[in-house]
Amino acid sequence: DLDETLLDFTSAKVSGQADVSRSSHVKGCLSRYESALYRKESPYKPSSYLITKLRQYETLHKRCGPYTESYNRTITQLEHGHLTNDHETTSDKECKYLIRIPYDGLGNRMLSLASAFLYALLTDRVLLVYDHEGETADLFCEPFPETTWLLPPDFPIKNLENLNQESPECYGNMLKHSRNTSFVYLHLIYTYDDYDKLFFCDQDQIFLQNVSWVIMKSQFYIAPSLFLIKSFQQELATLFPEKETVFHFLGRYLFFPSNPVWELITRYHRAYLSNSDETIGIQIRTFHPRFLAAAFNFTTSTLEALPDTILACSINNNILPEIININGSQGSSKSKSVIVTSLTMKYYEKIRDVYWEHATVNGDTIAVFQPSSEGGQKTGNKKHDRKAWAEIYLLSLTDKLITSPWSTFGYVAQALGGLRPWILHMPKDEMVPNPACTRAMSMEPCFHKAPVNGCKMRTGVDDASAVVPFFRRCEDASLGVKLV
Ligand code: GDP
Repeated sequence: DLDETLLDFTSAKVSGQADVSRSSHVKGCLSRYESALYRKESPYKPSSYLITKLRQYETLHKRCGPYTESYNRTITQLEHGHLTNDHETTSDKECKYLIRIPYDGLGNRMLSLASAFLYALLTDRVLLVYDHEGETADLFCEPFPETTWLLPPDFPIKNLENLNQESPECYGNMLKHSRNTSFVYLHLIYTYDDYDKLFFCDQDQIFLQNVSWVIMKSQFYIAPSLFLIKSFQQELATLFPEKETVFHFLGRYLFFPSNPVWELITRYHRAYLSNSDETIGIQIRTFHPRFLAAAFNFTTSTLEALPDTILACSINNNILPEIININGSQGSSKSKSVIVTSLTMKYYEKIRDVYWEHATVNGDTIAVFQPSSEGGQKTGNKKHDRKAWAEIYLLSLTDKLITSPWSTFGYVAQALGGLRPWILHMPKDEMVPNPACTRAMSMEPCFHKAPVNGCKMRTGVDDASAVVPFFRRCEDASLGVKLV
């Protein structure tokens, strides 16, 4: 019953032979072979070059992964303070590494991890995940066969989470003060400055090419800006002929839910979603007005009008049927299951009640559910994070999706699912906005704080969204960019 394309895409057909040792990697992770039973086949096909590249990457990761000879040698160089491995005389090509430090909530972490992996693919680096609280291991299966992507706890540099803009190894800082260091730290979070942003420029990539250990703290989906680096452009065009599939394919390749998360997903799916004619996801995420004002230059009021905004978006776009005020059954036509995700129950309750208290014009039966209401973000709490990942995944299994603006939680769901969502317009002044939502241009996530002028110091190019056709301002964030 398994989807051949998916199997072909995720299993190791390295040289056309059956890979027996790979099967243990597949067996330990239930979602890897059961997901095809829950997901519709993707309408997109990965390029054969992407598949080849992933197989090559798997071979590289196996050769260079933790505690291999190459890894041990490169660690020794790091301990001796060598930034590059120019001194090496071995015939084996030396390995280079990208260590990823997580930052922010799960959506941000998944976006930044997938785009860090893309950077690793483009630069022949091995991606290792700093997982000091064990959350990556708890949420995801190991993505690469016969090796691990987890950075060993005995890695000589400790407390990587403390690296920051003031660290001597910080790339922006190195540019300002030209220091000698044994690794480079990339600071790609909201506080990054014009020097840190030079990471996205050609000249800086040439320098980074030979550095053995690059450590990246990122909360962003940096993939769109990698498309502006000239030395990567040819390769990216061959890997992704359809630009909007970058996270769709990399996310589906990397992120298989661990067995406990898979249990949450499948139990919920069987109980609430599997028996209806159509499933609809509504992702509701609200932010503190102060954060919105600072990050997105947007102000909201009390959001009293949000349930009506969601209903207006759903009805105006034929996602949910209109209601009528007369009694009497219209005879059943279609059943629709609506899964709402939110940190609170109040929006869900309103939508549920509307379809309980009223009949629908076309006789459709609407069932509305919400898996959890956690009250607030509790990143780092394992039970909470498992639910968050399960809900992102359940949203990605729906037929139609409504998302909230600015939310990376929604971005992951849409791109994993291959769905172009309707993005809600948040009510500003207690009124339902008109229109209540906008259809996204593509399923790709938005890079919220992209350095559109980042290389100006270097190249004089101003606004890339004006010159590169597949690079646009995000629908929901005027400072952000996305691939279309
Ligand atoms: P963003 O803040 O919306 O961009 O998304 P993130 O995933 O980066 O951070 C928000 C975090 O809050 C999530 O990772 C969850 O921990 C929590 N959260 C937000 N919305 C929901 C939701 O609908 N369901 C659950 N279970 N958790 C949520």
